Amino acid sequence: MTRLREPRSAGPAPARTLPGGKILVVGPTGRAALLTGAEHAAFCAGLEESDPLRARLAALGIFAGAADAAALAREEVECGRLNWSGPATHVLLASVRGSAMSPQTAKDVVDFVFSTPRPTLTLEIVDEDGRGWPAAWFAAEYARRRAEWAGRGLALVFRAPAAPPPERLAFLRGRRATVRAALSADGPPEPGRLFGAERARIVIGRGARDPEGWVDALSAARFSSVSWVAAPAAARNPAAARHYARFAARALARLIDAQETSNLRDELALGLLASRPWEVPGLDLLETLAYAPDGTVFSSEEGWEIGGTAFQLGDARTLRFQDLPAHPLVPALAAALTRETQPLCADCVYRSCCQIPPSAHFRAQGTLYGRLLDSPRCLAHMAILDSIFSRLDDEKCLKLLDKWGVDSGRFTC
Ligand code: SF4
Repeated sequence: MTRLREPRSAGPAPARTLPGGKILVVGPTGRAALLTGAEHAAFCAGLEESDPLRARLAALGIFAGAADAAALAREEVECGRLNWSGPATHVLLASVRGSAMSPQTAKDVVDFVFSTPRPTLTLEIVDEDGRGWPAAWFAAEYARRRAEWAGRGLALVFRAPAAPPPERLAFLRGRRATVRAALSADGPPEPGRLFGAERARIVIGRGARDPEGWVDALSAARFSSVSWVAAPAAARNPAAARHYARFAARALARLIDAQETSNLRDELALGLLASRPWEVPGLDLLETLAYAPDGTVFSSEEGWEIGGTAFQLGDARTLRFQDLPAHPLVPALAAALTRETQPLCADCVYRSCCQIPPSAHFRAQGTLYGRLLDSPRCLAHMAILDSIFSRLDDEKCLKLLDKWGVDSGRFTC
């Protein structure tokens, strides 16, 4: 048998100047080093064999003969699509935009959800105006029973903009459901707005202010996680997109500073740092599927919000999971989600962890691939990842990653 030869060179290393002036250099497996301007200039000019910086950078795998082929192979196995076992999160829209799902449709949706192969599922039930409660009730009860019958893991989440009445809350607690508050960051983070939920999905519009205040309020109210979501305007308007990116980055910086006292986790930052596509929130089909009140299956909640048929995959009553590859949208999504097909991502320091939902690109720029130079979502991901990577040499940041269960050893050396 012929042995594969180790690569002689791992290729050029992407670099990025971060806020504060440090330069981030990342190797092919995602390992990173923060350099001063002088160190980076010396690296670009060529380092002597005896230079201590060379030994440090060798650990990134960016010199000929120093590439960690085993780590590259391990990453491919752990994070590659062949390791995908179906979407992790299923968003059942029990009531949205004035439409409510029927309990029968909720049953059809739950049956479809349990036909997907991932052993552990998350079912997030959205009841925007309370009129979806019959479908929400049925879905929670039926899904909990189906999970017990099948011996499958199930995380139930109930998302609403206000506190459910006590009897509904008691029902949800009895089914071990987590309540997720659907909020807007317009206006101050008064405790009354948080209504005892455990998780939050907070829309960031132009009126959103005081990210530090929001982080402090959520931490004080013992929230376990938050997802900052860009308002629709931020999908298209560069100024709104920059406002969202700054808000999310400042909130993350506050979380790093408050790591000793806060148990709050940033869902998007965590999903990106996991470097596995099926953990990036809202990633069409790979991480999520969404179900409209009439039972139509969409590749993501964002795909449903766009409207029309572009992101429809079928009807929960008739769709079979194994038939999805034959749907024209699926190969299109797979191609759009392949980082190597994005010229700018291929040269980006964050290429090993960042992924953007094609539906988000489509909404912003009318193409599944996006135009990264002026992509609002790329801007936001850069800002979020800059917040973390610019502090990779900061004890507080490493402690926060530890607390979140992120293996920071994957990034540092
Ligand atoms: S989307 Fe932007 S931040 Fe993410 S890998 Fe591509 S270029 Fe980098």
